Amino acid sequence: MKLPVYFDYHSTTPVDPRVLETMLPFFTEAFGNAASALHPFGWHAAKAVETSRRQIAAMIGAQEKEIFFTSGTTESANLAINGAKDIYGEEKDHIITQITEHKAVLNSCRALEEKGMRVTYLKVDERGRISLKELEEALTDKTLMVSIMHANNEIGTVHPIEQIGRLTRAKGILFHVDAAQTAGKLPLNVEKMNIDLLSFSAHKMYGPKGIGAIYIRSQNPRVRINPQILGGGHEEGIRSGTLNVPAIVGFGKACDIAVQEMKSEGERIRGLRDRMQAAFCSRLDHVYVQGDPERRLPNNLSVSFAYVEAEPLLMTINSEVAVSSGSACTSGKTQISHVLRALGLKPELLTAAIRFGLGRFNTEEEVDYAVEKIVAAVQKLRCLSPFYPGKSS
Ligand SMILES: *Cc1c(COP(=O)(O)O)cnc(C)c1O
Repeated sequence: MKLPVYFDYHSTTPVDPRVLETMLPFFTEAFGNAASALHPFGWHAAKAVETSRRQIAAMIGAQEKEIFFTSGTTESANLAINGAKDIYGEEKDHIITQITEHKAVLNSCRALEEKGMRVTYLKVDERGRISLKELEEALTDKTLMVSIMHANNEIGTVHPIEQIGRLTRAKGILFHVDAAQTAGKLPLNVEKMNIDLLSFSAHKMYGPKGIGAIYIRSQNPRVRINPQILGGGHEEGIRSGTLNVPAIVGFGKACDIAVQEMKSEGERIRGLRDRMQAAFCSRLDHVYVQGDPERRLPNNLSVSFAYVEAEPLLMTINSEVAVSSGSACTSGKTQISHVLRALGLKPELLTAAIRFGLGRFNTEEEVDYAVEKIVAAVQKLRCLSPFYPGKSS
């Protein structure tokens, strides 16, 4: 077992060795520019890009021509929101999103508010769920877009995308979905879910960093997006710039593997997550699990050990276990994540939240090791805490 053991798969994942292997030739002998139409170097690169586009489209039930390469979910979400506003914003000046979205979506919406758009930020309940009724009531004939993430990257709550898609489709409103945490992990089908725009990244699903895609619906209805990066007209003019062929090849392979292995891998990882959660709950008291127990990412465990601050806890064990907290300590002041804040947790739990993200390369041995280390560290810190009431553990 290699230390520290990695439980931060929501933040990024290692490249799968099978993915790396398919990428390598495209750095060296097959280095061509996919836009070079007059020689075999270019043709070879272009062919590899189209193979990858097919693999990516297949994973989400889309057509190849509906997939456009970007640098990742941040860029795709910016492109979806700003690109749609540029085209349709004159007639429709209202966007609906929700408060636990990633900053890629929230800050894109904030910036459009400065330009006169109206934005509704739906609130969530203590499990991180929006109310479909509130969403439906917020829809008007001025609503341009609904942007809701498939699953939350901190607490793992999975939003009812198919039901939302039915509402937006019935009213002819665009539906954008941030699928950074679910692409390659949960089934996604843009037809069944009535998704018009979908954003995702390779590096959250065992592909390389800095490559991602946006799906743009081409029919029923055809969705138009104004490009935000202008240049040589790559990607049908939607996103100019020389294609990162090795990364694109890796992204395609990562999707191919995900399609094959999603089901068995999801079950295995869910088992590991449940084992970890059960161990914490049986060995410690005052343990609180965030998110929706009924609709949660199989690889997510957001947990608070009351009376123990997450940051000092993680700092004491970070050479053994690598995980994230739900707050970031900047210049001595603890910044609590907007997601945890939205849940309305008790103050003592807000700074205690720890986020485990499990993944493909985790083993049962690693889970048991992390549990040992964390239980011991929590017990030690609680002994020192003047606030900790129970000494039963
Ligand atoms: C990681 C993540 C993003 C940002 O992805 P990048 O690859 O960094 O652009 C956006 N949304 C969610 C839900 C994420 O988990």
